[in-house]
Amino acid sequence: MCAPPAILAAVTVVLAWFVAPRAQAAPPLKVVATTGMIADTARAIGGPAVSVTALMGEGVDPHLYKASPGDVRVMTGAGLLLWNGLHLEGRLGDAITKLGSRVPVVCVTDAMPQDRLLRAAGVDSVPDPHVWFDLELWGSACERIRDAIIERAPDAAPDVRARCASHLQLLDTASAHVRSVIASIPAERRVLVTAHDAFGYFGRANGLTVRGIQGLSTDSEASLRELNALIDLIVERKVPAVFIESSVPRKAVEALVEGCGARGHAVAIGGELLSDAIGPAGTEQGTHVGMVVHDAELIARALGGTVPARPGALAAWLDAAAGRAP
Ligand SMILES: [Zn+2]
Repeated sequence: MCAPPAILAAVTVVLAWFVAPRAQAAPPLKVVATTGMIADTARAIGGPAVSVTALMGEGVDPHLYKASPGDVRVMTGAGLLLWNGLHLEGRLGDAITKLGSRVPVVCVTDAMPQDRLLRAAGVDSVPDPHVWFDLELWGSACERIRDAIIERAPDAAPDVRARCASHLQLLDTASAHVRSVIASIPAERRVLVTAHDAFGYFGRANGLTVRGIQGLSTDSEASLRELNALIDLIVERKVPAVFIESSVPRKAVEALVEGCGARGHAVAIGGELLSDAIGPAGTEQGTHVGMVVHDAELIARALGGTVPARPGALAAWLDAAAGRAP
């Protein structure tokens, strides 16, 4: 006895579903990144092939951050876990090292040329972890992220390679813009004083003398002697402004301003820099490139520079990041 045509049709559809190659794309690779700078870069390079979660949000200090039980769950479920390394993540770094055997973990700085890494004066073994402020050096992190994504999502390789190439181009354009922004500051005023030593790479890339009240990490306190040496520098060079940072308490910078005032030099707080965390999502500062451009332009304005117009490609990219119409 023959089956009715409707049943035959249904059976054919079900069989076809099992036999036919799946046309739909693979689900996105679950990427977990420690910092917003890495998360934003992974999103730009991975595009639709990745879904990215950042553990540390706006205003969070990575040096002091401790992993919550929720973070451990998120990290354990990652298809790829990206971190900065170079001791940036402090205790979170210890948790990541322990996870290394269970989750694919990639340190985005581990292919950076050693001779391009800055080290704290007198301490050979401690590299400066704030590498995202050297936009050219960050290209190495981009390539590391590209290769790590492609290894785990090979179908997306052509798109990921193309995205990475265009992101590297954007970094070049942004880097040239930032250099010209800082070059607009009168030479004797090219001194950047901030809450902690996050801007060493920024200073090297852009010809700026950089001093932090605290050292490379925020887990150390500045001594009175160091504070006085900084006040001497500011008074001597007639530096007009010093800066607070979004991820570091402002107390030490305020003490510096008072100290300069007591020496007869009025120094202003030039604004809030984004040092170790990107800004709010949906703004240009909420991206890695936007954060560096924001800082450069803020520094230049406060130190007496004139900010040149952004190159077209960079302006368009930042407008899109901020959801502004072109
Ligand atoms: Zn830092």
